[in-house]
Amino acid sequence: MMNNGKTYPPVSEPAIRVVNLTRVYHLAGEDVHALTDVSLEIMPRQMTAIVGRSGSGKTTMLNLIAGLDDPTAGEVWVLGQQMKTLDEAARLALRRDKLGFVFQSFGLLPLLTAEENVGIPLRMRNVSRKERDERVAEALDWVGLTKRSHHRPYELSGGEQQRVAVARALASHPEVILADEPTGQLDSQTGRRLLDLMRRLVTERNITIVIVSHDPQVMQEADVVHELRDGKLLETRLKGQPVLAR
Ligand code: ADP
Ligand code: MG
Repeated sequence: MMNNGKTYPPVSEPAIRVVNLTRVYHLAGEDVHALTDVSLEIMPRQMTAIVGRSGSGKTTMLNLIAGLDDPTAGEVWVLGQQMKTLDEAARLALRRDKLGFVFQSFGLLPLLTAEENVGIPLRMRNVSRKERDERVAEALDWVGLTKRSHHRPYELSGGEQQRVAVARALASHPEVILADEPTGQLDSQTGRRLLDLMRRLVTERNITIVIVSHDPQVMQEADVVHELRDGKLLETRLKGQPVLAR
């Protein structure tokens, strides 16, 4: 596709690209090699899993993608922008406007109702009261929790709390949702239901999902699985196919 010497990008650019990513922590005079020379691409509107045992570098990778941490070496590109070119304000704006987060521990504020928890990111963005109410109601409806809108986290099951967290991410209309061990505190059946919900985020809302996890159910559900071992990319697998690379 050459035209006057210009090359055009392929139709579908990766949503996220990490290139030769290395992160070394310095702890009490020792170097901890959390990630070593990892390169991978995450395509839009897919569910991608980054898997590996505890300590393999998964959370480090997610923090680098979110711009919450800086690599020792290598590059991180998110939605066409290179993270190291963004200052703190620009990273904050990227996280607020384009990314959603779901954590193992749900991350809900205990004194607030489901509805209030879902509305927090919208408050921080000064979304008008009317629009906020609409988006919160829509997100809670989408995760099937309209009837629990006025419940506080302790009045909800683990699975319901995680669905509130998904609704909170969804209400910001993100392009990408980053989830760190989202099924880690759920029994397998509840975890299964959460993954079904995550799958619907891809198919119905066109959201790119990145899950880091060591849950076999996540590995089974994901379209692409990148496996880390000791901070290195061991292999990449496509759903239903044997090893793709490495
Ligand atoms: P995972 O999420 O796969 O369990 P992490 O990314 O949390 O793995 O950690 C990878 C490695 O880096 C581990 O050996 C961990 O102890 C180490 N590590 C993580 N965060 C820090 C930190 N802030 N300081 C020092 N070492 C860290
Ligand atoms: Mg972790």
